[in-house]
Amino acid sequence: MSAVGHAVHAIRRQRHDAGERPFIVIWESTRACPLACLHCRAEAVPDRDPRELDTDAAKDLLRQVAAFGQPAPLFVITGGDPFQRPDLTELIAYGQEVGVRVAVSPSGTPTLTEQRLRELHTAGTVGLSLSLDGSTAELHDGFRGVPGVFRWTLDAWDAARALGMKVQINTTVARHNLHDLPDIVRLVAEHGAMLWSAFFLVPTGRGRSLGALTPGEVEDVLNFVYDVGLTVPAKTTEAHHFRRVALQRRILADTGDDAVTVLGLGPLYRELRERAAELGLNAGTRRVRRPPLDVNAGRGFVFVSHTGTVHPSGFLPLGAGNVRETPLTEIYRSSELFTGLRDADRLGGRCGACEFRRVCGGSRSRAYGVTGDPYAEEPWCGYAPGSFPYQREVAALLSGGADAQPQTRPRPTAAEGGKEHRVQQER
Ligand code: SF4
Repeated sequence: MSAVGHAVHAIRRQRHDAGERPFIVIWESTRACPLACLHCRAEAVPDRDPRELDTDAAKDLLRQVAAFGQPAPLFVITGGDPFQRPDLTELIAYGQEVGVRVAVSPSGTPTLTEQRLRELHTAGTVGLSLSLDGSTAELHDGFRGVPGVFRWTLDAWDAARALGMKVQINTTVARHNLHDLPDIVRLVAEHGAMLWSAFFLVPTGRGRSLGALTPGEVEDVLNFVYDVGLTVPAKTTEAHHFRRVALQRRILADTGDDAVTVLGLGPLYRELRERAAELGLNAGTRRVRRPPLDVNAGRGFVFVSHTGTVHPSGFLPLGAGNVRETPLTEIYRSSELFTGLRDADRLGGRCGACEFRRVCGGSRSRAYGVTGDPYAEEPWCGYAPGSFPYQREVAALLSGGADAQPQTRPRPTAAEGGKEHRVQQER
């Protein structure tokens, strides 16, 4: 099969017009949380904020989500720790009543009991997402700031699976756990999950104090995530250039080129691959990869803060209105911020010049966090626009064409390969 034939499945497009209806709405139900995670976006605090949306306001928000039309966007209740809200199960059940599917993203605490999970399940939650930032208690608890979180998380994970709940495991990729990623994937494969998401830090909240990865390291990890997609269903969060990697890898698989050479992958990639091989992960048990979904801040994605402010992402602190005053549908469809972010022609720097910008666009949150400009180029992407050697195949894939065949052109040598595809590896 040609690259194009495969590419139809290399990226998943949103089923509906992304300018009309988001794929997902994330609601920060509270900032209260007993943990003190090093990377916390919400800079969570022990007590609830009196300005939070109360039960009536939260139900109104659910009706606003339903107003996007059926099928309504997935509604994810996050925090802080949503278990700090006594009305959690009531809101899940209300979501069902108004036709909105609700998933919950709790913190790993002793409140995550089998009984509580059963209540969520009975109320109708469609899934649970849990954080796992290390394959050992030492690594995970160190990152989360409280001893015992690793054990509570694993117990809740197993209990949720036993109840038949869909579980997504989120891993924050940071310097402390870069080399532990294969072992985390092994845990995901062993315990089972609907999805493993590798989250790439955005310098906001407490995450500001954690060391940044180089674009070269990010590229190595993205290619590792692509590889393990045949072992566990894998995606990324705030690493939109994973879609570029998925397209490149799909084309290179068809041309028979060596991805390490053409993409200039580095020692971290080799190390991750070797560890994955030691753990028996490289063989892969899945027939096909889960194609990454084409969403980005404000394009399929909305975040509603604990006070009701609407943001294109939880990591992009620019607000576009408040659901107490303006309907979410109106903010999403018409606000200057959301319509601007959906316009790939407004992107600057390398993202603005990049042939992948309409399916990638980079992390707008990280661009803002690093430069103060949400349209600036993605600081953690090292791709030099136009440098991938199979431009005709890329163009065909992106236009949805069906007749492109891999070009016959000289392959980059090991010595030159990669260099031209990487710029600004060290920042
Ligand atoms: S330069 Fe920007 S648009 Fe192009 S792949 Fe990198 S992040 Fe994506």
